[in-house]
Amino acid sequence: QWIYMSGEYVKKEEAVISVYDHGFLYGDGVFEGIRVYEGNIFKLDEHLKRLYDSAKSIMLDIPYNKEDLEEIIAETVRRNQLETAYIRVVVSRGKGNLGLDPTSCANPRLVVIAEALALFPKELYERGVRLASVSSRRNRPDVLPPQVKSLNYLNNILVKMEANQAGVDEALMLNDQGYVTEGSADNIFIVKNGTIFTPPTYLGALEGITRNAIIDLAEEKGYKLKEQPFTRHDVYVADEVFLTGTAAEVIAVVEVDQRKIGDGKPGVVTNHLLSEFRKVTTTDGYK
Ligand code: PLP
Repeated sequence: QWIYMSGEYVKKEEAVISVYDHGFLYGDGVFEGIRVYEGNIFKLDEHLKRLYDSAKSIMLDIPYNKEDLEEIIAETVRRNQLETAYIRVVVSRGKGNLGLDPTSCANPRLVVIAEALALFPKELYERGVRLASVSSRRNRPDVLPPQVKSLNYLNNILVKMEANQAGVDEALMLNDQGYVTEGSADNIFIVKNGTIFTPPTYLGALEGITRNAIIDLAEEKGYKLKEQPFTRHDVYVADEVFLTGTAAEVIAVVEVDQRKIGDGKPGVVTNHLLSEFRKVTTTDGYK
């Protein structure tokens, strides 16, 4: 496996980063997770836009233009001879001294990893996932904007740990006002009386690329969709709940805080959107 590291392709075993890199010392950097379906890099343009926006927000200069970055990513996939893959693009602040001031970091580092994708098990789509709301809150938009996909994922890790401790598959994160925001690495949607709802990202959610693709797809298929704040109660009494993300695509939620959602099985709208999404990404609708 070949990994791109600031100007060269190196073997996986040799792909190492300095302990003085501020990405390692402080989580100072940004990243993207991107999928390759049948040799096509899905929504690359949108992912790169988000990467540059995240970097701009934290004043990190990505030392490559968009065209160069596109070529590096495509070449990393080609070199590893991958058809179906997961790509991780990381830009860290680079090597500096031990102080947290980023002005000591002269050269931001770019790493591109492409590897065969470990798909979620099929059973998980058939049975759906269980969520528990967690005590950690999504960071406020006036502190570290949730739209920034930074390397600082401790908050998300903590909520994942809370979900593990509760014995469920995924966490339901709220903001400090109690509005539902997202999962640990997925956006959330609910369906009530035929209308689909998802929280506006300003409440404290990443603007997921899959989220946006599903919003477009739902509208194209004639569903009524509203970006509107909602609470845990709305989730409990929804007809359907589902999560979206690069890894999960669209996955049904069948239980939240021990309340059964709908009839406890993946819903009709969820299944419809998942199959339509797979029609867009793959030729036969399945992987
Ligand atoms: N929310 C968070 C916090 C994430 O890390 C991710 C995953 O990247 C998502 C939502 C889903 O976003 P996307 O659909 O772009 O993968």
